Amino acid sequence: MKLVEPWIKVEKFDGKQIMKRIERACRTCYRSEDKISEDSYKNLLKNCLNRGHESVLEHEKITVRIYNDIGSYKDLTRHRFASFSVESTRYCSYDKDKYGNEISFINPVYIEDKEIYDNWKKAMQEIEKSYLKMKELGATTDMCRNLLPHSTAAEYTMTANIREWKHILSLRANNHVHPAIRQVMIPLLKYFKQEMPEIFDGIEYDEEFNPEYYAKLSIEEF
Ligand SMILES: Cc1cc2nc3c(=O)[nH]c(=O)nc-3n(C[C@H](O)[C@H](O)[C@H](O)COP(=O)(O)OP(=O)(O)OC[C@H]3O[C@@H](n4cnc5c(N)ncnc54)[C@H](O)[C@@H]3O)c2cc1C
Repeated sequence: MKLVEPWIKVEKFDGKQIMKRIERACRTCYRSEDKISEDSYKNLLKNCLNRGHESVLEHEKITVRIYNDIGSYKDLTRHRFASFSVESTRYCSYDKDKYGNEISFINPVYIEDKEIYDNWKKAMQEIEKSYLKMKELGATTDMCRNLLPHSTAAEYTMTANIREWKHILSLRANNHVHPAIRQVMIPLLKYFKQEMPEIFDGIEYDEEFNPEYYAKLSIEEF
């Protein structure tokens, strides 16, 4: 059994260019393309968002790759306007060399009580033991996956347009949300705020959440 930490990789993008492309699309509505200047997108976006004219944000999308527990994608895949490709527990057989012949579980660092944490860990060890035993007895991966708990680590790719990211982040970075999701969504929101403040600045997040629990965020070319 391997205990692993969550991470999030964000497809490299230029926030200012995204906002300028949204401006270009939006100005079609008013045929005011002649008003475009270096910084004109700022006021335009502010005015649009204040009035609820949000569909213009749908012209641009961002993709991220997330490594987190199954529980997190169970919740995030409820968002109907995002697209997902999720590591399959039906096809990925964790007894194979490729996976180190073991199951990886996301370490729930937010379980701070030692006795509770130890209980969780013991349960994961038992689950892995049964998974490998079932495989040894000839069970299919389909059968074995019935054992896998929410804590199982999985990678997924998630794409959404900017309007949907705004919506998702406004729902998924606050203290009503499972800590495993806050671990990835808070750093993502903070990054989006930094790169596209005109769009994401108004979105609040759980500022009490321990930053040591944040998933590592990196920027990559996909
Ligand atoms: C804190 C929290 C707790 C939750 N608890 C539960 C729970 O206990 N059980 C449970 O089943 N789910 C739960 N959910 C999931 C929640 O009900 C939504 O299914 C999920 O958050 C997706 O949100 P959404 O529908 O707004 O978003 P999206 O699917 O991302 O849609 C975006 C927006 O499009 C519009 N839209 C989309 N589809 C329709 C439609 N068919 N008709 C009209 N408008 C539409 C809505 O305005 C919607 O907000 C929870 C979510 C949160 C954040």
